[in-house]
Amino acid sequence: MSERVAIVTGAASGIGQAIAKALTHNSFKVVIADLNEVQGQTVAKAIGGYFIPTDLSQRFDCQTLVNQTLVHYNRIDVLINNAGFQHVDPIEIFPEDTWDQMLSVMLTAPFLLTKYVWSTMKAKGWGRIVNIASIHSRVASPFKSGYVAAKHGLIGLTRAAALEGGAHGITVNALCPAYVRTPLVENQIADQALIHGLSSQEVIEQVMLEPAAIKRLITPEEVAALVVFLCSEAASAVTGADWTIDLGWTAR
Ligand code: NAD
Repeated sequence: MSERVAIVTGAASGIGQAIAKALTHNSFKVVIADLNEVQGQTVAKAIGGYFIPTDLSQRFDCQTLVNQTLVHYNRIDVLINNAGFQHVDPIEIFPEDTWDQMLSVMLTAPFLLTKYVWSTMKAKGWGRIVNIASIHSRVASPFKSGYVAAKHGLIGLTRAAALEGGAHGITVNALCPAYVRTPLVENQIADQALIHGLSSQEVIEQVMLEPAAIKRLITPEEVAALVVFLCSEAASAVTGADWTIDLGWTAR
């Protein structure tokens, strides 16, 4: 797999950064696509990757990301649709612009990038697309309507693309993690601690992970390990699946 090239979106931070590192350690060449130029460049430098500044809410940027990767590496074998963000508000005051932004970054961009990488993967008869979905692709929480809607939609995209990719050696899968310790979740812990008057540890155990069997946060590296498996030859029969990595949350 030494020549294979992977695009990882949202790789300047958290889960995406861990995926970029893990793929690099497994001999992939990695393109880091992110809005955050400073952190994106830093990650790229640290792992020997190639940074392409990208605002995934812009269709032009999605096309440029694919074109620039092809110019630089002349191939794309793996696409990891990872970038995302959270916004918490009741529906009646949920900002409409935020809804549009959530859907464009977490659902439309994965569609556009899948569309734009399709012909190069099809031509090689090999491709791996992994969509970083969420436990909120399977269950809902109040006040997260934009996030839950986008992540449920991502499972639909995963399944449709898997059915189309089967004949061309392209597998498409989704990962559905519960809470992973990243800046996105650190912010939620701080907010919840303030609201409930609890310590960070109490928020994790009593509020966030109340439905889970294992009362600890997932590490970004645990998610990345599953991504590496899905990008391997060993996973060539696995497609259209939504993999939970959820501390037993949905076993209930
Ligand atoms: P994070 O905030 O650490 O990283 C997200 C990255 O996405 C950031 O680098 C950010 O700059 C980038 N990004 C945001 N909007 C962008 C845009 N318009 N264009 C380009 N890049 C953009 O978050 P994370 O926790 O690592 O989350 C990564 C993915 O995992 C997200 O899709 C998230 O929904 C999903 N997820 C996270 C958790 C969790 O508990 N952390 C659980 C389930 C799923």
